[in-house]
Amino acid sequence: MREGNLIDGRWVGADSGATFEVSDPATDRVVGRVPDAGADEARRAVDAAFGAFSAWAAKPAIERAKVLEALSARLAGDREELAALLTEEQGKPLPEARAEIDYARSFFEVSAKACQEIRDETPSVPGKKVLVHRRPIGVAAAITPWNFPMAMLAKKIAPAMAVGCTQVLKPAEQTPLSAIALLDRAMASGVPPGVLNLVTGDPAAIGSAWLEDPRVRKLSFTGSTDVGRILMRGAATNLQRLSLELGGHAPMIVFEDASVDFAVEMAMAAKYRNGGQTCICPNRFLVHRSLHDQFVSKFASRSAALVSGRGRDPGIALGPMIDDAAIDKVEAHVADAIQQGATVVTGGRRRRIEGLADRFFEPTVLTDCHSGMRCWKEETFGPVCPIRGFDDETEALAQANDSEYGLASYVVTNDPARIRRLGDELRTGIIGVNDPGPAVAAVPFGGVKHSGFGREGGRWGLEEYLEMVTVSSLEPGAE
Ligand code: ADP
Repeated sequence: MREGNLIDGRWVGADSGATFEVSDPATDRVVGRVPDAGADEARRAVDAAFGAFSAWAAKPAIERAKVLEALSARLAGDREELAALLTEEQGKPLPEARAEIDYARSFFEVSAKACQEIRDETPSVPGKKVLVHRRPIGVAAAITPWNFPMAMLAKKIAPAMAVGCTQVLKPAEQTPLSAIALLDRAMASGVPPGVLNLVTGDPAAIGSAWLEDPRVRKLSFTGSTDVGRILMRGAATNLQRLSLELGGHAPMIVFEDASVDFAVEMAMAAKYRNGGQTCICPNRFLVHRSLHDQFVSKFASRSAALVSGRGRDPGIALGPMIDDAAIDKVEAHVADAIQQGATVVTGGRRRRIEGLADRFFEPTVLTDCHSGMRCWKEETFGPVCPIRGFDDETEALAQANDSEYGLASYVVTNDPARIRRLGDELRTGIIGVNDPGPAVAAVPFGGVKHSGFGREGGRWGLEEYLEMVTVSSLEPGAE
């Protein structure tokens, strides 16, 4: 396994030779050591990306698409090995890691097709011939989080590479090994040196070096709203274009016409993926009063039956929280809710597992929740499900929209008129209607309000890496 940074096609260490450790969150065992790089290495990565840009951008789309397809095929071939690595550094159950590799691949497949469908436009203007042309924006930077270390990177690499951009990439310090493995497969699939460059190390130093460099024309970031704000301020000097996929606080609304069993299935599928460490997973459950008690009892008993443990072991549904800060936050949110009057229906505490790190939390269902509680206002990022009843659609909608975030929301209903209304009125970028998994590579993914802006997925994802140029010529003989 490689443990270096990738700059101009070469695997290198930090200038100082320093490294930092990567450990398995389930056991605290050290599983790798990667370069602790900073601004100098980050700038050299930009040199490489800048140098490689013209040749990569000049390739016909079909040639770039072939490289993306080759990479997808290689990821498929190495699926087991990559999934095992992902589980080891991130903690998620192995079947989820496999699904993440497949999800990552789908971005290369979708982008390979979409880049061949980009066309110039020719608006009609009297006396002129006008061409609206799209060209790659140039060097693009990407900074990614630890919750989907392979997929988040793929979401950013695939569209950028497809349209002819070159990139500098920084994965999260908790999960750099999946990123290194992905870039290793990329190089083996025919990506030319300098097209993809990876730097691990000091986040602020690397991020600032990229934003201070006028050759970097775009930054795509997935992570917390606070860091998104820092990066947006940093982009003010050189006016880099931004895509920011920030925090979420998704409501799930169960209406009175829903089947309780279906709603419970949907809640289980949407909520517990990655132990609730997913930016689009439901964080607040609004259940019509006529179904409330039945929903709570079935959801709690299904939740309580989930088995926690090491992601690589069979039958595990919940892995560890990523680090101590993460589990401390989950615990603090639950304590705050209880102190403010919430009822614990199931869970509510850490789950100690013999021989493993103290980083597992019980699947937790809370009722009698209200908007003063931290878990109702902030992203908990753990297996905690606060529930509250409602009487009518107006009340449910007002509560659902009462958040500074606007990434995803979920609705369980069979009423077509209501579905149309909510499509207009729910202030989120993604709405899952009877659908626990609305995020697929072919459709736009992204938020509104403090969840950020920009979209990943499909041709919309490619547009984030294209700039428009209007070429206007006077027709011969026109005034
Ligand atoms: P989380 O709280 O989920 O870890 P963060 O927003 O802190 O989310 O981290 C997401 C990504 O942003 C990671 O790759 C992290 O290293 C990076 N990051 C954190 N702080 C900064 C910063 N000041 N500048 C650039 N990147 C940063």
